[in-house]
Amino acid sequence: MAKKLPSVLLRAGEDRRVRAGHPWAFSNEILMDAESKAIPPGSLAILRAPGGEALGLVTFNPHSLIAARLLTSNPEATVDALFLGRRIANAAALRDRLIGVPYYRLIHAEADGLPGLIVDRFGDALVVQLNSAGMEALTPVLLEALEAELSPKTIVLKNDSPVRELEGLKREVAVAKGNGGPIELVENDARFVADLSEGQKTGWFYDQRDNRRFMAWLARDANVLDVYSYSGGFGVLAAKQGAKTVTCIDRSAAALDAARQAARLNGVDKVVSFDKAEAFEALEKLGGQHARKYDVVICDPPAFVKSRKDLKTGAQGYRKLVRLAAPLVARGGFFFVASCSHLMDPPAFADQVKRGLRDAERSGRILKSSGAALDHPVHPNLPETAYLKALTLQLD
Ligand code: SAH
Repeated sequence: MAKKLPSVLLRAGEDRRVRAGHPWAFSNEILMDAESKAIPPGSLAILRAPGGEALGLVTFNPHSLIAARLLTSNPEATVDALFLGRRIANAAALRDRLIGVPYYRLIHAEADGLPGLIVDRFGDALVVQLNSAGMEALTPVLLEALEAELSPKTIVLKNDSPVRELEGLKREVAVAKGNGGPIELVENDARFVADLSEGQKTGWFYDQRDNRRFMAWLARDANVLDVYSYSGGFGVLAAKQGAKTVTCIDRSAAALDAARQAARLNGVDKVVSFDKAEAFEALEKLGGQHARKYDVVICDPPAFVKSRKDLKTGAQGYRKLVRLAAPLVARGGFFFVASCSHLMDPPAFADQVKRGLRDAERSGRILKSSGAALDHPVHPNLPETAYLKALTLQLD
């Protein structure tokens, strides 16, 4: 018979949010008696209302602010490879339908019913990020489920996210199966290269897939500047879709090497050039007198706001970026700027963009306000996890 799971109890009045469908309970909402505190981080537990009624099955970490993460509202469920496998199969079926090629974010945490788990798929290779003690503890079961559903050749555990520290987990990268080196992927009918172990995050940023397609469409016959280009997702695609010239700027030599390979794979290495540089410095240099103008300027920086305490300075970073980049946009040209800072909401981002445009004395109009691609769904009770914000403007 299965071992009886420990119970954790919500404090008086704290069950309302979970009853309304929220998948988390915070540590201050849980009765942290000696027994609860002694539950090993990452254990499965039954979450109970103050009166004792079982609300569901959670992974529990007494040391994390997000202490309980709901796996299912069925307290009787067995969390085994079959359980995880069903969720993986559903997520894969949705992506296969939405994206059409096996290169996508397969699991986007809570939105796919698997809190704390990110999986990006590169054909028969998977890059897994376990971002909670609960998911970490389920690793063997998860690997079994992934094996059963997808029989991948390669599985990389890219457990290097800083959020792991909030869960008391070490940051480390391990290859669980196969070899985790660079791999080719297909996106928007173009070929790219991602390094599964050494690349940034999971090796590729699938969230910008649709924005890249849109910008490439605007970039026909254009001179394009792609700042924070990483491995060419925007710039190389624009070149393939008919841009006249593309300049990719990034400070990472490895990212630019992958972009260079992608340019070659798509037959546009004559069109794309690369500049390894600090973005602000490069923009300042490009913005000198008689500055060359670009028909399309793309700025997709890393998160400037990494914690609540740098909300203000981070926000100002976006303003500065716009102030430096907007002057490089030709009259009538297009300007794309994005923010992946979780802690900054869309109005706050739009406000910084507006300020930056004023600093640069440029006017224009917002053509499109967009977010992450469809393989990054959002749990309805966690709207704040829709982290990606992008604005596309035409400037006068
Ligand atoms: N636009 C990319 C993703 C950008 S991720 C895409 O479509 O895939 C952010 C990129 O900014 C990374 O490649 C990182 O190397 C680069 N970067 C971070 N800080 C930078 C800086 N100060 N100057 C230039 N590049 C920087």
